[in-house]
Amino acid sequence: MNNLRPALGIFGGTFDPVHYGHTQSVIVAAQQAGVQSVAMLPCHIPVHKNHTPSASQHRLAMLKLAIEQYPQLYIDEREIHSDTPSYTIHTLRALRKEYPKHPLCFFIGMDSLHSLLSWNEWQALFDYCHFVVCCRPGTKTPLSEELKALLAERQVTTNNALHNALHGKIFLADTPEMDISSSEIRRHIINNLPTDDMLDPKVRRYIQTHKLYQPSTTF
Ligand code: ATP
Repeated sequence: MNNLRPALGIFGGTFDPVHYGHTQSVIVAAQQAGVQSVAMLPCHIPVHKNHTPSASQHRLAMLKLAIEQYPQLYIDEREIHSDTPSYTIHTLRALRKEYPKHPLCFFIGMDSLHSLLSWNEWQALFDYCHFVVCCRPGTKTPLSEELKALLAERQVTTNNALHNALHGKIFLADTPEMDISSSEIRRHIINNLPTDDMLDPKVRRYIQTHKLYQPSTTF
């Protein structure tokens, strides 16, 4: 027994657009990690991207449509309404003040684990949250020695370990490999290729209505 509150999940992304690789992965990973509710955290100005994202209002509207049938997902709009770049460490510091007794579980895909060591103040992130990592195809490249050392120090294999500490652990979830990315979807739309297996139909209709991802778009 501990005196901690229920863990809070956070899933950050550009969501340009949100797709099944986001929603299905985070739902399965949250179940495995024993996390009841996950805040989807769309960023305003992404730090890691080399494309200009669609307007925040569109990304937010699509995210709302994509999660409306999942009661365990909700949207935290703090980053998307900010006009400064979205650094995870800043958001985590704010969340920790609001939730001093809740373990914070930050969900990422395996590609993001590979790039974690390039995140701003990456070591300090572990003073604020755990990481729950979803499988992602195309990320089978061997882990760097530094990442291996990080996992040796921090990996846990039971969700109890996530709920008995406020922060500092890594949990590798066993989620279905979903070969979907937002950039691939943007390419499909521009080339008039089907996106049925990748996107919620409501999101697809929104993209059509608002004529998003048309030929002038930068990927
Ligand atoms: P882009 O293709 O524009 O780079 P993306 O599809 O990677 O976008 P993001 O919004 O950048 O989507 O991703 C947010 C988070 O979701 C990241 O942690 C990423 O690793 C994870 N993620 C994205 N797609 C998948 C997927 N298919 N399976 C598992 N995790 C995913």
